[in-house]
Amino acid sequence: MALLILGGTTEAGLLAERVAAAGIAAEVSLAGRTKSPARQPLPMRIGGFGGIEGLKTWLGEHRTRVVVDATHPFAARIAANAAVACAALGVPLCRLTRLQWSPVAGDRWIDVASAEAAVEALPSRPARVFLTVGRLELDAFAVAPKHFYLVRTIDAPEPPPALPNMRLILDRGPFDADAEEKLMRSHVVRWLVTKNSGGKATSGKLAAARRLGLPVVMIRRPEKPEVETFQSVDDTMTWIAAHLPAS
Ligand code: NAP
Repeated sequence: MALLILGGTTEAGLLAERVAAAGIAAEVSLAGRTKSPARQPLPMRIGGFGGIEGLKTWLGEHRTRVVVDATHPFAARIAANAAVACAALGVPLCRLTRLQWSPVAGDRWIDVASAEAAVEALPSRPARVFLTVGRLELDAFAVAPKHFYLVRTIDAPEPPPALPNMRLILDRGPFDADAEEKLMRSHVVRWLVTKNSGGKATSGKLAAARRLGLPVVMIRRPEKPEVETFQSVDDTMTWIAAHLPAS
């Protein structure tokens, strides 16, 4: 198999379409976090590899020639595992990731390193908080049950987080700024907590917070190993073509 795409993102799906159209023998790997993953135009495998050693074994068994890490900017472990496994086997690896968000005039961002630090950044008095950090990070907020949390996730958190004063919305983007402003107004939101995922599909909440003058607690991206990184599918396709030995 020529190419392995580590997926689970919009960008990985777009890349898979281009790779399929180019007739490259490839497979997409998903962790299996979402209940109904988007259909892929390529063969798909689901589930962890079993750490670095498991990934090395898989790459060897499938005679993988190149790997593209197109996982989410916050998926740090698989990115690290891919870097180590590919380096050990001499398999070229690149990353496809979306640009991160940067503050613009009018933004009131508080930069933090983790969900735990985000809770610390919230005020000491009870506040009304819009939480868009993904369902796996919600438990960190249980230490501050005094706040009202408007929580939005794609799939329902299982088990539900221990947040006594919570309203859960299940929804998948894109979300535009007008709708986000309306949502924040209707729930009298005063704080936004989010991860710096980047991309256009979910940036509407940032524009809405700016319009409403609300502080945003922004969880910064985790460190990842340095590998050649692209923001566009076009550039990634060029890299793939350059690194796939002619067969
Ligand atoms: P992670 O912490 O980096 O990975 C945890 C473990 O999950 C990895 O060690 C690996 O297990 C397995 N894994 C992760 N991505 C995989 C993939 N594409 N294919 C096969 N196994 C994978 O990642 P995560 O934060 O749990 O994210 C999991 C997946 O969800 C990623 O594919 C990512 O693109 C997507 N996602 C993540 C976020 C987020 O905020 N973290 C948001 C949206 C989508 P083994 O060690 O057993 O191989």
